[in-house]
Amino acid sequence: MILKILKSFYDFFFPPLCFGCLKITKGEKICPSCYQKIFSSPIIVNKKIRIYALGYFNIPFNNLIHEFKYHHRLFLKEIFGKALSKIIINDYYLKNCDYLIPVPLHKARLRERGYNQSEILAKEIGKITDKQVLTCLIRKKNTKSQTKLKEKERIENVKDAFIFDNHYNIENKNLILIDDVMTTGATLISCAEVLIENKAKEVFGLVIAIG
Ligand SMILES: [Zn+2]
Repeated sequence: MILKILKSFYDFFFPPLCFGCLKITKGEKICPSCYQKIFSSPIIVNKKIRIYALGYFNIPFNNLIHEFKYHHRLFLKEIFGKALSKIIINDYYLKNCDYLIPVPLHKARLRERGYNQSEILAKEIGKITDKQVLTCLIRKKNTKSQTKLKEKERIENVKDAFIFDNHYNIENKNLILIDDVMTTGATLISCAEVLIENKAKEVFGLVIAIG
């Protein structure tokens, strides 16, 4: 009883907020409207490779990705993993792909953050879709954050940033690159080029949001 009263006081002053749109919820971490946005139809863009996303980098994706990436809200891997897996399962090209390849972080960045959000996502998707995750890319340049750079600078920034780990064999395989956000696509394209140079057949991109 006393706990219940304390809880209602607590909820009055600190009501539960949706992590996506920051509106008050009935206790859910993600409100039904944001949930619905996460699971609506994917966006597909064709750059040098075909890239699929759950949505654009605005509400709720911007807030959710920020929580996932910088505040260790790792429960989000389940919902994103489920939604991204749904895209794979329903897509002719993606469902026949062989491996999931997370976009790597530089080891200095990895040490700082403690985890690579793209690898966490890839593993979650791998569990659901029964696809193997290959960490066959290495980020050798600690690239500047892409967020404040112009398109040309971004391409320059990620040029030669990735190398292939020769312990892996991707010859004739179809691959899905996994990342959290795509802005110009420079990072995904740079990764795809390295994979193609190493004899991959086809490479696709799958991200949470397009910025
Ligand atoms: Zn919401």
